[in-house]
Amino acid sequence: MATFGNLSDRLAETFKNLRTKGKLSAADVDGTVREIRRALLDADVALEVVKDFTGKVRERALGDEVSKALNPAQQVVQIVNEELIEILGGQQRRLEFAKKPPTIIMLAGLQGAGKTTLAGKLAKWLARDGHTPILVAADLQRPNAVTQLEVVGAQAGVPVYAPEPGNGVGNPVKVAKDGVKYAQQKLHDVVIVDTAGRLGVDAEMMKQAADIRKAIDPDEVLFVIDAMIGQDAVATARAFQDGVDFTGVVLSKLDGDARGGAALSVASITGRPIMFASTGESLDDFEPFHPDRMASRILD
Ligand code: GDP
Repeated sequence: MATFGNLSDRLAETFKNLRTKGKLSAADVDGTVREIRRALLDADVALEVVKDFTGKVRERALGDEVSKALNPAQQVVQIVNEELIEILGGQQRRLEFAKKPPTIIMLAGLQGAGKTTLAGKLAKWLARDGHTPILVAADLQRPNAVTQLEVVGAQAGVPVYAPEPGNGVGNPVKVAKDGVKYAQQKLHDVVIVDTAGRLGVDAEMMKQAADIRKAIDPDEVLFVIDAMIGQDAVATARAFQDGVDFTGVVLSKLDGDARGGAALSVASITGRPIMFASTGESLDDFEPFHPDRMASRILD
């Protein structure tokens, strides 16, 4: 994953230096923690997350588990790995399906975050798993959004519920509700509701998303965030958490060459798990997110 290439290289270099040492002195630990801190900050990981992370690593690295280890340097790498998994959300979190179908999944995020593309990716992935998803086009803000969802639906081979001309046009809450009702009638077991975003956080958009949430009472609200947006990721995530709240995070555009660290901060800052990763424009560039695998990739 190109996004974390630089961070990976920096950490690898830090650990290489550490491995040349046998027993670790407090100064060795401090030096290592300082380098990890710089590498994370340069990768755009949010300051409060970095502080928390390096504080925990330092405390553990100075403790018994390292001083008594046969290979102290290896033990420090192991600690970094464990703490990295922790900031990435710990355990993998799977989608929660409703006991009584349909399972309602609402997508939220800024315009351009990758929501519409994600709707197609998620639908295709669910359909391959034997589900019968339908997409609902409740993004009525962008002129092309409904057509774009229809194109994505066709590519994924899943139906799309879109407002009929004259019926619900301009009223995304009604379209979302009608879409869910339609899905129930047609016995789809999953409904994915695409909603509107703006280029920046905006009170009206947030209210609309919150209204949709209230009207359809989704089982999951997935907040889609572009890994390339840098330090803005944290403020954006907080705004969506306050305005709409979400049950999980999707990191999109992890294929880019941005530093990505800000997106890595989102799980830790919001306390919501990263559930999926989007890694390209094709509908197959998509995978469930595994904190442990991501940590291994970064530390490899
Ligand atoms: P929305 O406004 O949130 O619905 O965002 P879109 O789904 O329309 O995506 C915005 C742009 O980003 C489109 O050109 C997508 O093809 C592109 N895109 C979406 N996800 C990814 C991804 O994971 N990687 C890359 N490289 N591009 C993506």
